[in-house]
Formats: sequence, structure tokens, C-alpha cells
Amino acid sequence: MTESKDWTRLLARVRACKACELPLGPRPILSASPTARLLITSQAPGRRAHEAGRTFADASGDRLRDWLGLPPELFYDSTRVAIIPMGMCYPGTQEGGGDLLPQARCSETWHGPLLSFLSQVRLTLLVGRLAQVHYLPDPRGSMSEAVAHWRDYLPTHLPLPHPSWRTLGWARRNPWFEAELLPELRVRIAEILK
Ligand code: SF4
Repeated sequence: MTESKDWTRLLARVRACKACELPLGPRPILSASPTARLLITSQAPGRRAHEAGRTFADASGDRLRDWLGLPPELFYDSTRVAIIPMGMCYPGTQEGGGDLLPQARCSETWHGPLLSFLSQVRLTLLVGRLAQVHYLPDPRGSMSEAVAHWRDYLPTHLPLPHPSWRTLGWARRNPWFEAELLPELRVRIAEILK
């Protein structure tokens, strides 16, 4: 009971965090619970996720759910799937398009306390280079190299590219991603969440 209260208090503190100056203001977005068995650590919410107040509420989210074989009701079931971005607020857009990198202080401040409650997690998906550099013991030279060596990090971690439209060309150049990695990932996730 005490642990549950501690978790609720921590979640309330994260959701009330206003530590950063951000173009649209702080709006921390995460989905998590101590019973989650799959953890998705991504980069930061995009503008649409910020407006919706929900992680991956956009076409990238549709692509990620397709990769994982998870319908929205399961993807957003925080008792089973935790989604904790490296930066939990929308960081704004850089000149020429593309979102800015998230604030480093976000993962430095909050990931340790949040992850200390997630003792049931059996697989952590590292979506994008930032999460890979932060969490892989040996993150390889690039996102592409880290993902190409995906088997090396199992059974606890698995690096993935960011599921934006930019990944479509990358996936065509790396056919093993859809032919080998995704089928294996879906089997593992189904097993973990059953
Ligand atoms: S990005 Fe993280 S540290 Fe910054 S205001 Fe949002 S929750 Fe707080």
C-alpha cells in the first residue's frame, strides 16, 4: 500500500513538473505503472502528442503499434505497457523541420525514480538513438548499427529506429528489419504480455 502511494506521489510530481522552459510550455506525457512488463523508452512527444496529452498519438504511433503487433487498447494499457520518453514534454521544432532534442535534465531527473518502481519489466524497447545511447551498455556507432545488432541486447533490451516516415526508406534498405526483427519482437511481446 505504501509503495502504491509512493508511486502515485511520484507520478503526480512528474506530471506537475515545470522545470524546463519550452515553446508550448511543460506538459509531461508518460504512461506507466509498476505492474508493466514491457517498457518503451522513446525520444519525446511530438506536437500532436502534446496537444492530445497522449504519447504516440500520431502516424508514428500507428507505425510503432504495427511494428509491435499491439492494438491501441493494449499499447495504452499502462498496467501492462509503460511508455516513458527520454524527454516527457514536447521540446519544440527546429528551423527547417524536425523536433528539437529533448531536455537532458528530464531523463536525469525522472528516469531513475520512475524505473525503480518498474520491477516487472521484462523487455525494454529503446526507440531512437537517444534512448540507445542512454541505456545500452555498448550502443555501437549509430542507430542503424545498434539496431542491426539487436540480437546482442536480448532478452532485456531491443533497439529500434524512431517510427517516423523517415524510417520507411531505412527499412527498405535494411529488409532484415521487417523480415527478421519484427516477427521475433512480436512473438516476444505476445509472450511477455499474455
Ligand atoms: S521535459 Fe521533463 S524535466 Fe522538463 S518540464 Fe517536462 S517533465 Fe519536467
